[in-house]
Amino acid sequence: MAFTVSPAVRGKHRRARRGPGRTGATLAGVAALTAVGAFGATAAAAPGQSRTAASAGGIASARDASAPDAAFARAVSVGEALTDAVAEQADAQREAAAAEQRSADKARADARAVRVRAEAAARAKVAAAARASRAASRRALAAAWTRPVGDAPIGTPYREAGAYWSSGYHTGVDFLVPIGTTVHAVAVGTVVSAGWDGSYGNDVIIRHADGKYTLYGHLTRPLVAAGQRVAEGEAIGVSGATGNVTGPHMHFEVRTGPDYGSDIDPVAYLRSHGVTL
Ligand SMILES: [Zn+2]
Repeated sequence: MAFTVSPAVRGKHRRARRGPGRTGATLAGVAALTAVGAFGATAAAAPGQSRTAASAGGIASARDASAPDAAFARAVSVGEALTDAVAEQADAQREAAAAEQRSADKARADARAVRVRAEAAARAKVAAAARASRAASRRALAAAWTRPVGDAPIGTPYREAGAYWSSGYHTGVDFLVPIGTTVHAVAVGTVVSAGWDGSYGNDVIIRHADGKYTLYGHLTRPLVAAGQRVAEGEAIGVSGATGNVTGPHMHFEVRTGPDYGSDIDPVAYLRSHGVTL
C-alpha cells in the first residue's frame, strides 16, 4: 500500500497519514468534534438563511451545503486541523503534567529534607536535655549526701587488722562521739532493719538508690523502724556504746549487700558522693 502525505499536513505535530482509512477515521473524528459546529450549523441553517447566522455556528464552510464536494474537502481540512490541534493540546498537557510532576517531586524532596533537618534538630535537643538532666541528677545526688554525725573525728579506720573483729579486720569506721549524739542518714533510702544486731549492738541499716547499704552501729536506740523511708540527713538514731565496744562511738559501715562481709571503704564511698571527710 502506498503512503501519501496530504499537502495540508504541516507543523511538527502532523503525522503521515495512510490513505482513505485514515481519512475516514479523521472524518469520524471531525463528525464527533464538530457535531454542534460545522454539521450542526449546516443542518440547522434553513435555506436562505443569512450567512451571518450560519457563520455563527463557528465554521465558515457551513454555508456550502449546496456544494457537497467542496464542503467535504473543507470538512476534511478542518478535521485535520482539529486533529492536529488536539494532538498539540495533548502534547502540551503531557508536558505540563510532566512539569507539574517534576515540581511536585521537588516539593516532596524539599519537604523531606526539611523534615529530616527538623527531626535531627529535635533529637539533638532531646539529647541535650537528657545530658543536662543527668548532670543535674549527678549534682543533686552529690548534694544529697551528708556526714552521719557532723564533723566528729574518725577513730579506728576502715580495714584496721585485729583479732578483736570476727573478720580479722575493722569492717567500717568509728566516729568518735559521746553517748546521746544524734545520728543522721547519709542519704535518702529505706530502712531494712533497726534494732539489736549482735556485736553491733543496736543498729540501723538503710538501703540506698544505688543498691548500697549503710549501717549505723552501737546505738543507744534507733529512731526509725524497718520499712521506713528516710530522707538525707534525717535523724535515725541516738549514739551509744551497745554491743562489742570498748567505749562510746558510732560505727559506720557501707555494704554492697545487706549482710556482714560485703563491706567497702565507707570514707571513699561518702567522698564519691561529694561528702567531705
Ligand atoms: Zn567500728
